[in-house]
Amino acid sequence: MTTNIYVIVEHRNGVLRDISWEAVAAGKKLSADLGAELTCVLLCGTGESMAPQLASEVPKVIVVENPVFETTNSEALILTLKELLKPQGSYLVIMGASNSTLDLAPGLSVALNAALATDCFSLEVKNERLLASRQIYSYKINSVVSFKNSDRVVLTIRAGSFQFSPVGDAKGTITNEPCPIDEGKLRKRFIKYVEAEKGDVDVSSADIIVSIGRGIGDEPDLDMFQSLADSMGGVLACSRPIVDKNLLPKYHQVGTSGVEVKPKVYLALGISGAFQHLGGIKGSPLLIAVNKDARAPIFRVANYGIVGDLNEVVPALEEKIKSLKG
Ligand SMILES: Cc1cc2nc3c(=O)[nH]c(=O)nc-3n(C[C@H](O)[C@H](O)[C@H](O)COP(=O)(O)OP(=O)(O)OC[C@H]3O[C@@H](n4cnc5c(N)ncnc54)[C@H](O)[C@@H]3O)c2cc1C
Repeated sequence: MTTNIYVIVEHRNGVLRDISWEAVAAGKKLSADLGAELTCVLLCGTGESMAPQLASEVPKVIVVENPVFETTNSEALILTLKELLKPQGSYLVIMGASNSTLDLAPGLSVALNAALATDCFSLEVKNERLLASRQIYSYKINSVVSFKNSDRVVLTIRAGSFQFSPVGDAKGTITNEPCPIDEGKLRKRFIKYVEAEKGDVDVSSADIIVSIGRGIGDEPDLDMFQSLADSMGGVLACSRPIVDKNLLPKYHQVGTSGVEVKPKVYLALGISGAFQHLGGIKGSPLLIAVNKDARAPIFRVANYGIVGDLNEVVPALEEKIKSLKG
């Protein structure tokens, strides 16, 4: 039976990333389900500000400081985590599924001789067995996996799958452990972050998003959609086919290979609701969908749906909004 849960937290520029808090949420859930002790592991340049934040949410925080952890280096992380975790008994290791953990998680599972399930969107305990849900075949099929004869498991969790609700009064302990690595012997080194292209609009921080999909047709009147977005005080975003057709730049694309958004209102126009698109919409916005096909998958997740042609619905919506605004 699993006795310990270790959440490996991720940070950038000295700030804990959202995905780390979601991993903490997953850790808290499994800690309650399994009766296992929850510990956050923070490998960083300095834990001064991040460690107390974690300690206000979980019972234990282990900090290992080394300048190499200011950025990301899976080799250094694996070597350190191996030293920390190898002597422990049975445990689960949880981390976010992110660019940084793409090589960290499998490498660590090999180093620890642990089972691995990546990009899990749900974790459950049934009859004392851990079940992890993940998607396979380009997200077409959900699979539920269990871990045979394994008392060590490494899990990564998909962004947006576990909701973190801060408590703030955990009064956890903070323990500093020495860093076991010799930086000079590392074969991998971090060179630099390359920031994604920044555009004239930042859809990632917009509260109101009007998002257009392939349903706008081959010769769309983009001004009509921009005008609706303007009337709502929102910004224009899109699904991937719109970027593929060069109708909008990449930084407008919402989804797993685009931008993650956290709006209050998301109006999806002519978007079918593919998982890769919905995967970019975090939290629970008010999701309104307009689609001419009543069976479009987006209607399964939308709060409100309008079955109709965009060319009729969009001008009507804008007129209504303008008349309401006076
Ligand atoms: C590895 C990978 C990563 C991906 N990443 C992303 C991503 O980040 N973001 C993303 O969006 N996609 C991504 N995709 C693509 C994704 O799988 C879908 O193909 C894409 O989201 C579909 O876009 P869509 O809904 O605009 O188009 P479609 O699926 O073609 O849907 C168009 C919708 O418009 C409706 N429609 C048509 N005409 C009208 C009309 N006149 N009025 C009203 N409705 C109309 C149709 O009924 C249909 O439901 C990715 C795919 C892969 C394999």
